[in-house]
Amino acid sequence: MNRLPLIVANWKMNKTHKDAQKLILDLKNSIPANRLGSVVLALPYTSLPIAVETAADSLLEIAAQNVFKAGDGAYTGEVSTNMLVALGVKWVLVGHSERRTTFHETEEQINKKLKTILTSGLKPILCVGEDSMERDLGVTFKVLARQLGSALEGFSETELASLVLAYEPVWAIGTGVNATSEQAQEAHIFLRETVGELVGKEFAQSLDILYGGSVKPDNVAALLAQPDIDGALVGGASLESASFINVIKNGLASKY
Ligand code: PEP
Repeated sequence: MNRLPLIVANWKMNKTHKDAQKLILDLKNSIPANRLGSVVLALPYTSLPIAVETAADSLLEIAAQNVFKAGDGAYTGEVSTNMLVALGVKWVLVGHSERRTTFHETEEQINKKLKTILTSGLKPILCVGEDSMERDLGVTFKVLARQLGSALEGFSETELASLVLAYEPVWAIGTGVNATSEQAQEAHIFLRETVGELVGKEFAQSLDILYGGSVKPDNVAALLAQPDIDGALVGGASLESASFINVIKNGLASKY
């Protein structure tokens, strides 16, 4: 088992590149120099160049929130993995529920994006999660197994070496209602077992699985204290330096 805690900020469609620079400088000056955990910031495309530059020589790494499923070509308005790699971006979110619902991204497209991301050397953070109706109907595990199975189809263990998984129940995203530690731990165990069946048991044991959905400074410690929750994907609470720094501090402290 070789799992290091990881805290990922998802700023969604917020902040100009100037706001981003200011916030990253604040974070750089305040994040504890803790080599036992990593912090990744997933930002809009327009902020990526200045973010990579500002985060240089710090513990912060930069992620894109999306990427196109194919390489360079006639795809007006899209951004390729090539462009992200050239900028110095290290990570990409894929399968976020807002992409699945608002932008109608299909499971097939997510699988293709994952292929393009892995081939480019970028590291994917694959998001899965049930919505409230699915949880009420008692089909949470069925949905998670389907999303995972289709996303990971056709990949070898070696190809998936840099994968990070995020369990993000849709009903918890941006609602202020987080999954309880027990609900999240139960889903994480299920995801780890499913990855074990799909890819390999040892691989699953070393896979980082993050929880996302209304993570705040005051609930992150309890969530990350669960043995199968290796980190957090944080939306709203990552938009302001004080709250994100407290998420990082409290979250990482509960791991050690
Ligand atoms: C997210 O956007 O992935 C997220 C978890 O948002 P929030 O923390 O605001 O619920």
